[in-house]
Amino acid sequence: MTSYLDDEFGNPSGAHRMARRANQALDEAREVMAEALGCAPGDVVFTGGGTEADNLAIFGSCDAGTGRGRPVCSAVEHHAVLEPVEQRDGVVVGVDGDGQLDLDQLASGLDETTAVVSVMLANNETGVVQPLDDVVECVRRHAPRATVHTDAVQAMCWLDVAALAASADLVSISAHKFGGPKGVGALVVRPGTPLAARAVGGGQERGRRGGTQNVAGIVAMAAAAAATVAERTDQVARVRRLRDRLIEGITTTVDGAYETGPSAAQGSGAKTANIAHLCFDGVDSEALLFLLERGGVMASAASSCSSGAMQSSHVLTAMGVEARRAQGSLRLSLGYTSTDDDVDAVLGVLPAAVGRLRTEERVRG
Ligand code: PLP
Repeated sequence: MTSYLDDEFGNPSGAHRMARRANQALDEAREVMAEALGCAPGDVVFTGGGTEADNLAIFGSCDAGTGRGRPVCSAVEHHAVLEPVEQRDGVVVGVDGDGQLDLDQLASGLDETTAVVSVMLANNETGVVQPLDDVVECVRRHAPRATVHTDAVQAMCWLDVAALAASADLVSISAHKFGGPKGVGALVVRPGTPLAARAVGGGQERGRRGGTQNVAGIVAMAAAAAATVAERTDQVARVRRLRDRLIEGITTTVDGAYETGPSAAQGSGAKTANIAHLCFDGVDSEALLFLLERGGVMASAASSCSSGAMQSSHVLTAMGVEARRAQGSLRLSLGYTSTDDDVDAVLGVLPAAVGRLRTEERVRG
């Protein structure tokens, strides 16, 4: 990455030698990304991150063709999908208590005006994995002309995206979720998928996303993707064991602690291996985050993109979690660098923090 910020500073659209070297680096990165994502190199459209890929998928699908298509998405999507869907008066489909899409409701929300259906592969707050093949089958049956998009931003480290998203027409990813830099991502666009560009001008990315590419970021994203895929099987098993120990340690030492959605013990397919999402009765998330941070634990309550604002989570609301319980939600995310010592550190701080907040609440009450 650093060499493309320094000596190799060519613009990949240029004609001279340095530009050609930058273009060659882009070609190589595109091949690596295609391999990791199970598509052809020409299907990879580089973007400025996951939000841009999601926006391009929704707006670009609605604006293709007649430009009158409507979007459909699940109620637990990231705001990068939800907002475009709301802006285009789309249909939002509910989920059950385990966070799984209601396929009957999806079927009844589809018609000939449906341009795109967007259902994420893995949820960013709860780690719940959606049955994408069932979604695709339902869409092909009830709205055969619609495009299927999946936001796989949270999935790269934990799921075989190439296999699980193989039936989707559009797939979003973001480098900083798998060890690459922030502000770079990609949208896989399968051949023949109608898509109107959002950024137009220079015609880069085969006219699907104009603008000079972030060569250094893209080269780094490809390196991170290759390393992630190479390590994934081993890391998923290792991190799942740590996460399960973390959840068991919490639920056995803290009364009134509930794992959100399907329990990790329910099996490996229901949730990604890295997220422990719990709700603590009688505790306020904001106060808990404060005490945890003082104890050296960095965690979040809703999705980290919005936790600065501390609104109650639309994901938990959609899953039917009572507002009172959702007030005490906590997301602990593990990664490829997490260790048993990290789990011990959380177990050393969290039960005492919850106990302290409940005592203070009793004294106040
Ligand atoms: N989609 C999901 C599921 C996410 O978790 C995020 C970020 O957290 C995004 C999209 C947005 O990606 P980015 O931060 O690269 O814009």
